[in-house]
Order: sequence, then C-alpha cells, then structure tokens
Amino acid sequence: MGLDMVGPVIMGHGSAEQKAFYLPRILAAEDRWCQGYSEPGSGSDLSSLQTRAVADGDDYIINGTKIWTTYAQYANRMFCLVRTAAEGKPQAGISFVLLEMDSPGITVEPIISMSGNHDINQVSLDDVRVPRSNLVGAENDGWSVAKNLLEFERGGRAWGARLRGAFAGLRELAEARGLAREIFGRRLAALEVEIRAVEITEQRVIAELQHTGRMGSASSLLKLTAGDALQAITECSVEVIGVHAAPHQPEARAWGSNLAPIGRADELVVMGSYLDLRARSIAGGSNEVQRNIMAKLVLGM
Ligand SMILES: Cc1cc2nc3c(=O)[nH]c(=O)nc-3n(C[C@H](O)[C@H](O)[C@H](O)COP(=O)(O)OP(=O)(O)OC[C@H]3O[C@@H](n4cnc5c(N)ncnc54)[C@H](O)[C@@H]3O)c2cc1C
Repeated sequence: MGLDMVGPVIMGHGSAEQKAFYLPRILAAEDRWCQGYSEPGSGSDLSSLQTRAVADGDDYIINGTKIWTTYAQYANRMFCLVRTAAEGKPQAGISFVLLEMDSPGITVEPIISMSGNHDINQVSLDDVRVPRSNLVGAENDGWSVAKNLLEFERGGRAWGARLRGAFAGLRELAEARGLAREIFGRRLAALEVEIRAVEITEQRVIAELQHTGRMGSASSLLKLTAGDALQAITECSVEVIGVHAAPHQPEARAWGSNLAPIGRADELVVMGSYLDLRARSIAGGSNEVQRNIMAKLVLGM
C-alpha cells in the first residue's frame, strides 16, 4: 500500500516536507501502511464517513472506527479519511491525514475471514492526537486526494503480474495431474486470453498515467476484470485438485509450522485462496460500484 497507493498520492498532493520524509522510506520499505477509509456505516457510500478530527492547537484529535483495515496488525502507519467539517456537501468536509499506528488511543482488533486467515481488522481511534502538518492536501479537500488514491488502488496493482503468478500455479497443479490438455485445456486457454487482455489494458492505463498524470476511470475496468480473472483462476484450481481441496488446515500453512499437511503441500493453500478471493468483488470498491463508475465516466451514460 506504500508503493502502490499512498506513495503516488504523496508525490502528487504532498508537501515538500512530506515528500522528503515519506517517499525514501516507502522506496526502502521502511514503513508498512494500511488504509483507513471504510467504516461500519460507510463503504460504497464512503463520503458519509463519521470519524471526526477536531483541531486542537497544532494537532487534530481523532475519534471514530475504521473497518476491514487490511494488515492493520502489521502496519506502522495509516492513511486515513476523517471528517473535519459537518456542514455542506459530505464530500466537502473530508480530509486526508497520515497517522502512526503506535499513537496512544489506537486499538486493532482482528476479523477472521472464512478461510481462517487473519488479514482484516477493525481499528478504533479514541482521542488520537495527530499533528495538523500530517494533512495531505488542504483541510476539507481530502476527497479529491482520496479519489486519486482509489485510482492507484484499482489500476496500479501490477494486476498482470499477479495474474501470471496465480495462473502459473494453476497450470502446475493441472500439469502435475495430467489434466492441463484434455480436461482443463479450454478453461486454461480462455483464462490465458483474459490475462492477456488485462495486461494490455494495464499498459493502456500506464500510458494514460504518463501523459495525464492520472490513471483515470479505466482503473475501475482493470480492477473489475483482473478481480474476475483472479477469482476464475482460484475456482479452476479447486476443481483441478477436486476432493484434495477439502482438508481445512490453516495452522499447517502458518509460517514455520511443523504440522504435516494432509495431502500435497501445494494443495494446502488452494481452498484458502479460493475463499479469500471471493472478497475481490468487494475489496477496493464493489464490482457494482465499479460498473456505475464506468457507465458514467467511460460510457457517458
Ligand atoms: C477483503 C477486504 C479487504 C478490505 N480492505 C480494506 C482496507 O484495507 N481499508 C478500507 O478502508 N476498506 C477495506 N475494505 C472495504 C471495502 O472497500 C468495502 O467493503 C467496499 O467498499 C464495500 O463497502 P461495504 O462493505 O460497506 O458494502 P456496502 O457499501 O454496504 O454494499 C453492500 C452491497 O450493495 C451494493 N451497492 C452499494 N451501493 C451501490 C450502488 N450505488 N449501486 C449498486 N450497488 C450498490 C454493493 O455493491 C454491495 O454488493 C475491504 C473489504 C474487503 C472485503
């Protein structure tokens, strides 16, 4: 989230001091970032967010709850959307602020997904003090910064490379069982075509970025098609290994575990990936919302 998401946004909207401090740290992977956008009552309708930041001298005091915060348990920094004004249009009272996860008043509670993995969290912010100099962009102008970040989140995740990696794993599973030509040949070929289309679209989006400095609304198209392809790859992987997908051993796939897997080690993660990737239709903005954006901004409907 540093390199792909908040880094480009600091480059575009940050102050000279913020660029000098954060960008080298992001490049050196010294910081681990998480994203404090969604709240229990605000997801697709993000501008309704209620986390309040009240100015107090040179600081803000922040109160509220963020949810679905991926890897908050590992992060030392969060980029966070807060409400700094309650009047006018909801979008006009939002600010984009950077905070440190070890600040007093921050509590991270795990949310365990149906695969048994712990990736997402609920984060409570209780009287968290953050310097006002940590604002990115102007106060009450965080919505444009937030939207710019979403373009990078949806379009700038090296989808082609991720798909190639996942597809190589699927192909290996199918070849090891002698199923890559006869039984799954057509499915694999269709997936390969999808991946190529994503790669070409990704190159188009990058070219757009070079010319205009923005990824544009095609980033929604990329998020949607790449997410669908990732889901299709994991679905096909489960079908390739059949009943061997059934053993549920999250503890055996934990780093450093001595527990012997039931079946082959490469089968251990297949069902977990399949289950986790169902959430791809929601994470980063739901597919329905991406279709709305494309209808409006790409098709002009
Ligand atoms: C695995 C995962 C990781 C995530 N990580 C993060 C994170 O790190 N940080 C963060 O801030 N958030 C994160 N999110 C949150 C994610 O951005 C939201 O879940 C998403 O934006 C949807 O919001 P919601 O869950 O409130 O659903 P809702 O907005 O309540 O939507 C419910 C359903 O209604 C549909 N819907 C809503 N509005 C419309 C509309 N206008 N037109 C048509 N259909 C509509 C949606 O498509 C969806 O199917 C994560 C989510 C998941 C699943």
